[in-house]
Amino acid sequence: MRAIDIILKKRNNQELSTAEIRFLIEKYVQGAIPDYQMAAFCMAVYFRGMTERETADLTMVMAESGEMVDLSSISGVKTDKHSTGGVADTTTLVLTPLVAAAGVAVAKMSGRGLGHTGGTIDKLESIPGFQTDLSHEVFLKQVRDIGLAVIGQTGNMVPADKMLYALRDVTGTIESLPLIASSIMSKKIAAGADVILLDVKTGSGAFMHTKEDSFRLAEAMVAIGQNVGRKTAAAITDMNEPLGSAIGNALEVEEAILTLQGKNKGNLLELSLTLGSHILHMSGRSTNLEEAREILKGLLDSGEALKKLAEMIEAQGGNPEVVNNVKLLPQAEKQQVIECWQDGYLKIEDAQALGLAAMLLGAGRATKEDKIDLAVGLKIHAKTGQRVKQGQPLLTLHYNDESKVEDAIATVQSALKIYSAPVPAPNLIYGIVTAEGRVEYL
Ligand code: URA
Ligand code: CA
Repeated sequence: MRAIDIILKKRNNQELSTAEIRFLIEKYVQGAIPDYQMAAFCMAVYFRGMTERETADLTMVMAESGEMVDLSSISGVKTDKHSTGGVADTTTLVLTPLVAAAGVAVAKMSGRGLGHTGGTIDKLESIPGFQTDLSHEVFLKQVRDIGLAVIGQTGNMVPADKMLYALRDVTGTIESLPLIASSIMSKKIAAGADVILLDVKTGSGAFMHTKEDSFRLAEAMVAIGQNVGRKTAAAITDMNEPLGSAIGNALEVEEAILTLQGKNKGNLLELSLTLGSHILHMSGRSTNLEEAREILKGLLDSGEALKKLAEMIEAQGGNPEVVNNVKLLPQAEKQQVIECWQDGYLKIEDAQALGLAAMLLGAGRATKEDKIDLAVGLKIHAKTGQRVKQGQPLLTLHYNDESKVEDAIATVQSALKIYSAPVPAPNLIYGIVTAEGRVEYL
């Protein structure tokens, strides 16, 4: 087999065999196929696409290019959740304790933040003492013992994706549906869960800007899951405005804790209940989605979900008292309120800009090497569609470094507009894709 023949075949719009896809990826990871040939291949895929079968094959070959996590020592169904990346999206910290409290195991590997979206691992590390770099043995034991662990990705997983992503990034081939879908799903499959729930964000703050593109990505990923024997569903959810009301690591942990305490009733809770219901239902824990939702609401009201979060924090070396006292989280020294400058209706025009403003204050990384300040970020007091009055607080900046405030304020102000006529609030959930197909919500 030769790489050139595989490139030509894809360029000429013919379907590749499993063996050809395996050859290409394996040889590339070994260094036997050069970047320029893989770049040409990615560009051919960009223009020609891939069949469902080819996409599933590519995903499995990528997943198998490195270490695969074996969760078979944990009894029952193992579940995982993935978001394509949102602003003020701390769903994982609300959803996973809820699901685990229902007796459904969650074995999750998360990433660090880069750019305008935060990463769960950074957020968790704002809890004093919390360890995210557990060995596989300790990770598995924790899931067996308490049904929940969230750790960082180990260095050895899915090297094919790391290499391909870096190459795509500099060759104009990121925005290819089969390449994105296989990239995301290869990492989920290598992480070992039987049930995978995907949250595909759509809108100004998301990777996919249109609803239709988001549905198509969701369908491609659900099809991969089905073709490789993992139960997969995807929700298409709004990212035109931040999901929750806090952006920044410790601030988002605080928001997750307040939500599990029953003190926050907004979109973060609603999305966590919806995604959690699908996880419970796919896991066979409920006979229908309504029952699943009732189970989760019961665990929220009884405090069992909050207790589960405390158990995870303690198991991973953190101070579990934070779930009763959020002041134990790192606190920024200074705050500045941004007030509304006229009466009217608020519209958050650019969720991504709010993420960037938090990053400018030090909450996120512009490059992988940047150090972050776990305490800083934004609290959002008003959302799109809300009627607002001059002088009313719209946002509070939490910061330590005075020199960073001016840029952050300018960025925040560019993202907010006040209209004199009413502005509709965006939908939270646009639809769900399951093995049965697409359901679009009105
Ligand atoms: N996220 C990924 O993990 N991979 C992609 O290709 C795009 C977004
Ligand atoms: Ca996130």
